[in-house]
Amino acid sequence: MDVDLHSHSVVSDGALRPAEVVARAAANGVNLMALTDHDEIGGLDEARRAAAMAGIRFVDGVEISVTWRGTTVHIVGLCIDPADSTLAGGLESVRSGRVERARRIGEQLEEAGIPGTFEGALTHAGNRAMVGRTHFARYLAEIGVVPDVKAVFKRYLVPGKPGYVPHEWTDLASAVGWIRAARGRAVVAHPGRYGLSADALDALLVEFRAAGGEAIEVVTGSHSPDQYSLFAAIAQKHGFLASRGSDFHAPGDYRADFGKLPPLPHRLTPVWHDWQV
Ligand code: AMP
Ligand code: MN
Ligand code: MN
Ligand code: MN
Repeated sequence: MDVDLHSHSVVSDGALRPAEVVARAAANGVNLMALTDHDEIGGLDEARRAAAMAGIRFVDGVEISVTWRGTTVHIVGLCIDPADSTLAGGLESVRSGRVERARRIGEQLEEAGIPGTFEGALTHAGNRAMVGRTHFARYLAEIGVVPDVKAVFKRYLVPGKPGYVPHEWTDLASAVGWIRAARGRAVVAHPGRYGLSADALDALLVEFRAAGGEAIEVVTGSHSPDQYSLFAAIAQKHGFLASRGSDFHAPGDYRADFGKLPPLPHRLTPVWHDWQV
């Protein structure tokens, strides 16, 4: 079984339509998948239909942007009910402010000598309301300011570099609460990517558990192989279920594609262990 519970479409910062994301997953051998666009569930109907056509199992997902002690943390919700109004209202509140933030990113980059990036980023955004750093990164790579998208996040758009605009997303307990209101399972996305100290990470996971969180990603395209072992041990220590997903955004991206990751370590309990889909 190849299970992939983290991916993006044009509804947030992916490059493919939801149905194209599903077709690619199926072609690469995925049997059970989730679409988890940032702060948006508008792609789920199309993806679910495509999965039925392709004959693969599908669960509804989302990846919620959270600010925890000043750090942006992502919480994935799986098996959510997309019709739930608490979740829909929460996501709408997280999305608000994105376009204004993007304007300010554009202004900062203009001050750094690169004009026109707000408009440029919008040309890469399938969904203007979800314009974000990936769209700026694609535009900066397109105009040759940096060799590729990965290089952008070393020189721009990150704390201390031009084009970084701090933003207050939602809080951890709210994100987990909306997912649970929609009868979903909350998962900490790529816990190795936040640059947190061991103590801070521990505090995050304790707070996440107290809010009703159940799982962490262990094997993800955003972790190095060393981090697979580290987060396997952390999942066991905290008694979390384990998740696995590529975090696919675009073909030929520097991040993992579908069908390429190793399986979860056997000693872990997969977050999908009791799913009836
Ligand atoms: P935003 O929600 O607008 O802040 O954009 C965040 C998105 O940018 C993430 O979901 C990733 O797709 C991408 N991203 C953020 N930081 C990095 C990084 N250091 N390296 C590569 N991609 C990143
Ligand atoms: Mn992204
Ligand atoms: Mn993420
Ligand atoms: Mn993601």
